[in-house]
Amino acid sequence: MSSVVTRFPPSPTGFMHIGNARTAIYNWLFARHHDGKFVVRIEDTDRARHSEEAVEAIFKGLDWLGLNYDNEPVSQFAQRDRHIEIAKQLLESGQAYYCYCSPEELTEMRETAKKEGRSAVYDRRWRDRDPSEAPEGVSPVVRIKAPIDDGESVVNDLVQGEVRVKHENLDDFIILRSDGTPTYLLSVVVDDHDMGITHVIRGDDHLNNTFRQKIIYDAMGWDLPHFGHLPMILGQDGAKLSKRHGAVSLEDFEAKGYLPEAVLNYLLRLGWSHGNDEIISRAQAIEWFTLDHVVKSAAKFDYDKLESLNAHYMKEADDERLIALMTPFLHERHKLAIDEIAKTRLLKGMTELKDRAKTLLQLTDEGAFYAKETPYDFDEKAQATLADDAKPVLETLLTQLTALNSFTADDVQQVCKDVAGNLRDGKLGKVAMPLRAALTGTTVSPSIFHAAEILGQEETTARLAFALEKIK
Ligand code: GLU
Repeated sequence: MSSVVTRFPPSPTGFMHIGNARTAIYNWLFARHHDGKFVVRIEDTDRARHSEEAVEAIFKGLDWLGLNYDNEPVSQFAQRDRHIEIAKQLLESGQAYYCYCSPEELTEMRETAKKEGRSAVYDRRWRDRDPSEAPEGVSPVVRIKAPIDDGESVVNDLVQGEVRVKHENLDDFIILRSDGTPTYLLSVVVDDHDMGITHVIRGDDHLNNTFRQKIIYDAMGWDLPHFGHLPMILGQDGAKLSKRHGAVSLEDFEAKGYLPEAVLNYLLRLGWSHGNDEIISRAQAIEWFTLDHVVKSAAKFDYDKLESLNAHYMKEADDERLIALMTPFLHERHKLAIDEIAKTRLLKGMTELKDRAKTLLQLTDEGAFYAKETPYDFDEKAQATLADDAKPVLETLLTQLTALNSFTADDVQQVCKDVAGNLRDGKLGKVAMPLRAALTGTTVSPSIFHAAEILGQEETTARLAFALEKIK
């Protein structure tokens, strides 16, 4: 299958919903697996809500996930003349017709259909009516002729299997509005045809549309692409995943400090499997991805699982890259910048930092102290740790640490043990905790003995002196 062409046709909403992101990932993987093409089409026909920033968000999202695309992206809006041309062709071949129904007539039909329990609403009153009967001054819509026999249409969906719809449930739907603009159903079919799309892989909320779109393909005598409809993503409560469940856009996850490879791996596994594999590299995903193992039922989004995957990828990530990724967070959250000294310290401390961190936010918060300079603030817990009885402990520590000739983590730890030994309860924590508060301004960090070694004797003792100053 060397001629596979898949597509990602988002409507620019201003952010990339993770359901959309997963659709993009599956289309991208399917194309790459088959050595085919992955193309992007921006469904920008809603001009009232259109904005360049919203379009940007899509490309940013694709870029963040590392989903490269082939060909120039297509603007659906720019193709509208072509869509109109196809509607005209369908009119000429008698497969579409003008409908002059008034809104009142349509309301009446809707009510009748509801009463009779029919899903098809329009009663086709203009389908065979002579155009000479057209009322004056009414701009008509154009409707396509849906099959009216008592048969059914069948689509062999690559995910859902065989799906059937009775023709009695298919309406003569509108392809051109009364203002002459093409409808979504028409535009998508024409674009997919013109772009040579072989596989339409999208959310199963579009399954009904597939049967409508098939009517246009059939009327034009165009080959139907293959379809694969992906189940929805739900929250843990079984409702469609939305903001109220937590983060739902790629932008949210990026802002919460997730790595793109973790999000990609998570979304890949959400609705697709390869045996029991959980950690799947990009190369493996391309090698293994087919639609055969897409699950048919909706998948529940599990934030904890994503977090543990993220923790895994944090450990694997290159240290320099992590520092680069921390930089904006460090600025935003701590008003700190990373100079050469901070970078050297962070590189030394990174193995320990990233071993603990589940997200870049945690990495940033727990590593921030390496970038600090005195004077810095102590958070509430650190202030509490530094209160009262910590003072004599810190004074002794300062004296003994200043006197050290060698300043390794072990040396620092030994001093702390000695100091603790002289305390009434002899607990190391009674010394290590104030030391941590003094050196970091917080109460959470990797081994404070290692941290002291990385900061060095001069900085460590300077910070201790600064903390003592604060206690006064
Ligand atoms: N623009 C549509 C959406 O974002 C995509 C439709 C399709 O995949 O055919 O839902």
